[in-house]
Amino acid sequence: MSGSLVVVGTGPGKPELMTPATQAALAAATDLVGYGPYLDRVPVLRADQCRHASDNRVELDRARHALALAASGRQVAVVSGGDPGVFAMAAAIFEAVESGDPVWRTLDIRVEPGVTAMLAAAAEVGAPLGGDFCAISLSDNLKSWATIERRLKAAAEADFVIALYNPASKARSHQLGEAFALLRTVKASDTPVLFVRAAGSADSKVVATLLADADASVADMRTLVIVGASTTRQVGRWIYTPRGAKS
Ligand code: SAH
Repeated sequence: MSGSLVVVGTGPGKPELMTPATQAALAAATDLVGYGPYLDRVPVLRADQCRHASDNRVELDRARHALALAASGRQVAVVSGGDPGVFAMAAAIFEAVESGDPVWRTLDIRVEPGVTAMLAAAAEVGAPLGGDFCAISLSDNLKSWATIERRLKAAAEADFVIALYNPASKARSHQLGEAFALLRTVKASDTPVLFVRAAGSADSKVVATLLADADASVADMRTLVIVGASTTRQVGRWIYTPRGAKS
């Protein structure tokens, strides 16, 4: 039997937020490859399934391992959190294909979409992504801080709602504070800022504040930060961004 590789996302946390297509792909796999905590979210679906848990920081090695398994005839599922194409393994797989064994280009590779953190976080508070928005990862492992600053400034000047992924990690805490300082030079001080921790899971927690008061130490590596546009506002206990710029 020829091998295959599917890249899936577990969604933000709750089992109900994992799509049926992803569940079916996981059930069909002979091998699961992923970061340990994400694999732990996948219930044991068959006794003969091999699990290859690895450290989160070696994504390209993990991608090569998965591709080699598929090339050897295994049915491989690579597991990310959220959506696999958003700051996650799907792009790592194609980077590995691009720089790896030419045979990998002929493999049966597909990607299943998942519920990404910013969608789960937005739903916790209302509809803050109701107008134009963008997503920026604050991790400078794979790109320079100067690039991140340039994109933050451009997004703020264009009045996008900005979803910030990877606002902090054990190794990094200063970036979010610097990002807020930069955004304060462009956006109004009363711009809504939302910290949503463990969105779409049983222990989700929301802190809603304003850009002037936003405290970077509220965020950890399970937090998604949303910085509003000029039209983002509160109605009752919800926060939303109207769909048009004129409203
Ligand atoms: N592929 C993932 C994102 C990976 S980047 C996705 O689509 O969601 C990792 C970052 O995503 C974290 O640092 C955090 O900012 C965010 N994140 C992931 N799951 C989250 C959740 N349940 N709640 C809030 N933020 C989350």
